[in-house]
Amino acid sequence: MTATGCWPRVSRCRWCACPVLRDNDGTWIHANLSYVCRDRFGGLAATTAEPEELRRAS
Ligand SMILES: [Zn+2]
Repeated sequence: MTATGCWPRVSRCRWCACPVLRDNDGTWIHANLSYVCRDRFGGLAATTAEPEELRRAS
């Protein structure tokens, strides 16, 4: 068990609610390997992957 910082490995995008994770550079990317958000119709949105605000654990 390792403690590598306070961020979970997978969060949820604050814009499109898709799962997001961090790449090797620490940049957030969607689970579908797209940095840019897509809307429900598959079109590119103006936002990029960004985790929603995390709730404090306690
Ligand atoms: Zn997104």
